[in-house]
Amino acid sequence: MSTTASPPPARAAVRPPRAGRPNGQWKVDGTEPLNANEVFKQESAPLGVRERIEDVYAKHGFDSIPDDDLHGRFRWWGLYTQRKPGIDGGRTATLEPHELEDRYFMLRVRSDGQALSPAALRVLGGISTDFARGTADITDRQNIQYHWISVEDVPEIWRRLDTVGLETTTACGDSPRGFLGSPVAGIAADEIIDPTPAILEIKRRYIGDPELANLPRKFKTAITGHPSLDVVHEINDISLVGVVHPDLGPGYDLWVGGALSTTPRLGERLGVFVTQEQAADVWHGVIRIFRDYGYRRLRNKARLKFLLADWGTERFRQVLQDEYLGYALPDGPAPAAPTRPSDHVGVHEQKDGRFYVGAAPVVGRVGGNTLTGLADLIEQVGAESARLTVHQKVVVLGVPADRVDELVAGLEPLGLTARPSLVRRSTIACTGIEFCKLAIVDTKDTAAAAIATLEERAGDVLASLDTKLEINVNGCPNSCARIQTADIGFKGQLVLSDDGEQVPGFQVHLGGGLTSADREEPGLGRTVRGLKVTADGLADYVEKVVRRFAADREPGETFA
Ligand code: SF4
Repeated sequence: MSTTASPPPARAAVRPPRAGRPNGQWKVDGTEPLNANEVFKQESAPLGVRERIEDVYAKHGFDSIPDDDLHGRFRWWGLYTQRKPGIDGGRTATLEPHELEDRYFMLRVRSDGQALSPAALRVLGGISTDFARGTADITDRQNIQYHWISVEDVPEIWRRLDTVGLETTTACGDSPRGFLGSPVAGIAADEIIDPTPAILEIKRRYIGDPELANLPRKFKTAITGHPSLDVVHEINDISLVGVVHPDLGPGYDLWVGGALSTTPRLGERLGVFVTQEQAADVWHGVIRIFRDYGYRRLRNKARLKFLLADWGTERFRQVLQDEYLGYALPDGPAPAAPTRPSDHVGVHEQKDGRFYVGAAPVVGRVGGNTLTGLADLIEQVGAESARLTVHQKVVVLGVPADRVDELVAGLEPLGLTARPSLVRRSTIACTGIEFCKLAIVDTKDTAAAAIATLEERAGDVLASLDTKLEINVNGCPNSCARIQTADIGFKGQLVLSDDGEQVPGFQVHLGGGLTSADREEPGLGRTVRGLKVTADGLADYVEKVVRRFAADREPGETFA
């Protein structure tokens, strides 16, 4: 049951900027650019690079791309250069970015929480097979991410995506990134409100809007109406979370200012109630506050969380209402604590009597054959579509009751399982050293090997645990895979082996977590002094923790 509550106090301190110096806030200091990023964004509209990619760079190749486009504006269309193979993590900090970079790109396609039809899955699979050497990962922001993309192939990729309504628009860059949406929107029997109309309206009005394409930094959005709180709403710049107002009915609770990275901060409630019809306006108001008042001088102080830390929720709400909406929003209730897992893994009945089935790849790796095979399987069993989740999983929607077993069996040969072990279900990993220029250690292969080892060595213990155990593996301190909100978060760094050699490894963060069925209050995990593991020792460490927890736990005790 929801309860009306005032916004909670700030949960993590963020140091305010020094007084007296301009911080590049457009409405306070003017629009004079204060760093190189601000210069290139003002010199030429970032979204305009698409035309040059299509007309010039795709025809004349990698060497025809000037620096400002290659390392700047390409991001606004989801393109980053990837890391050259074979450069170890010890050299990440010593080489210039261009020395680390390959002539190929990572390309991110936003799904925005929307259902992917078999046709869309085939297009996504075909792009992987034809242009990305078979790569395709589900990211923890419900994107599909490819590698090995050549600039020559980008126009054809965009053409194919366009045929099924998919896009890479502002999938990266200082812009509104891909939205997180409930994977069971519109179908779950226990849904409070279907966020699909709000997401589609915001997309229709504002994605690709040049007025919102020069923000101080990235701007992340999450929208859900499901009581499991399935979009990690506490760590987005803006989140709309389904609640029922005692007088006004279903709508959303508004959260702002969450983000992780190296200065993590959980988002805060403004304490207002937003109707479905107001959602797009409110989103537009918050993103314009960020555009107009966000700090632009230092990039590591530019996320919305720093502005919120200075303003506080009361002032933020006031500015939103007075300067951007022109009306007051009513007070509203907070979301109730969830009573079921938010990953949607397993078989669940929909409100229409059909079923949805959540399935786990290994650390989000799907690849072209899996995506195409999934499209075939969905059609074969008469299901409808699939959505991606923030846990790097897939949910198949609209499965007829008498075909559920066939679907579940058909997922296994595709590398997807609806009955994953606890560690396969719980582990996510960022891109890591295989392709990321900032990485210090490998993540995906390390995590996959650890999962296989743990399943073999500790399968009985894992099967006996009925608690969530989130394990998030990151290749550097940037926390793309949410180091601080995991039960066990691994932060990539070089560590000393028993022989005193520097080897790839991880700093361990323990005890973090977002609000879930296992945990009433979110909290950031803490590093334990000196607790580091080598990459080779990751499985041993997790096994030790899991076995000790299983041996010592009280009945019903959760890992959180
Ligand atoms: Fe790259 Fe670091 Fe982000 Fe991983 S956490 S994807 S290594 S920047």
